Amino acid sequence: MNNDVITMYCTNFILATSNDAALDWPTLVAVAIGVILLITAARWAIRKAREEQGQGQTAAPVPKRGEKSAQPDKKQEKKFVESAQTFEEGLKKTRSDGFISRLSGLFKGKQLDAALLEEVETVLYTADIGVRTTEKLLQGLRDGLNRKELTDGTKVWDYMEREARAMLVAAQSTEKEVVSRPRIVMVVGVNGTGKTTSIGKLADRYRRSGEKVLLGAGDTFRAAAVDQLEAWAKRAGVDIYKGAEKQDPASVLFDAAKKAADEGYDVLLADTAGRLQTSTNLVEELRKIHRVIGQAVPSAPHEVWLVLDATMGQNAIQQARIFLDAVNVTGLILTKLDGTAKGGVVIGICDEMKIPIRFVGTGEKIEDIRPFDTEAFIRALFGT
Ligand code: GDP
Repeated sequence: MNNDVITMYCTNFILATSNDAALDWPTLVAVAIGVILLITAARWAIRKAREEQGQGQTAAPVPKRGEKSAQPDKKQEKKFVESAQTFEEGLKKTRSDGFISRLSGLFKGKQLDAALLEEVETVLYTADIGVRTTEKLLQGLRDGLNRKELTDGTKVWDYMEREARAMLVAAQSTEKEVVSRPRIVMVVGVNGTGKTTSIGKLADRYRRSGEKVLLGAGDTFRAAAVDQLEAWAKRAGVDIYKGAEKQDPASVLFDAAKKAADEGYDVLLADTAGRLQTSTNLVEELRKIHRVIGQAVPSAPHEVWLVLDATMGQNAIQQARIFLDAVNVTGLILTKLDGTAKGGVVIGICDEMKIPIRFVGTGEKIEDIRPFDTEAFIRALFGT
């Protein structure tokens, strides 16, 4: 029952009762006040129920399918940004339980000497930064100690922050701007890392910024994967291209790429399978998809984004190698940063892979994805 219907019923009631000659004016006024109160209460209840129903579902007004969204609603956008997890929130566990808190505990008010260096070494090796990156950091510390530059805890802390920033900046600087329309992004990663969720979040983000978005359901081996992607397409208010069940993924994504080009889409996010059990087949399949998309739209895919699960720490780096062998990965999406104390893995990933981190997942809500921002990340990690 909507507000208009309630108002109509109440108005009819007042008219009916006012026609009743048996009722005197004071009684009528009392009835009218009662009815007004009733209407107000009912409207409030309806509004409340709608708000509750809207929570956790599509976070914004959905434009017509397949059409560019209207100008983004600034109020909605503000609410959206505010409700998303910030880097600080996403890195809470890393700061409280990870290597950062252990390091800061070590340094406080101390002089750097051989004994402290040994303790730092233990913390870094057990952190998820990775052996090669840890060795680099330790070598710098030893050099600084020998040159008597890193004399106290504050200077060591500054050194760590500086080095971490330099590693992130080096990786981020390899990012290239893509100006093609459509922009075709092939998304790869092991099942369970958060590939579908990230595609859904990105679709929503791009649609909000006014882009016409298409999703390509390339994981045709799992019916559930297609269903899940479809559910995200609905939530994000964007289109999806699906092939038949068990259809060759490359042929589905060929058609999706053609559709994106022919129908004026701004961006195609192409989902792919991520079965690790048969990694040889997977590698071949990804290479084929890459090749075939290029036959549909010359120079596509313009980007290949690899989704990595931050909670896996160093194992995420091992996993990444399979994909790096298969296709030219141009960017990383690091998911579940909120659920782990292993945020240090970001530094190791940047240092070892030299691939820019494009987005970071900081929660399960549709808005919990952010473009990677080196300075914001360093501030959140080191608390500066
Ligand atoms: P896929 O198999 O790689 O497509 O993985 P899904 O997208 O199905 O995600 C696997 C699980 O990870 C789901 O429960 C998601 O809600 C969860 N997930 C994905 N991204 C994030 C994130 O950034 N933070 C948290 N906490 N959970 C996430």
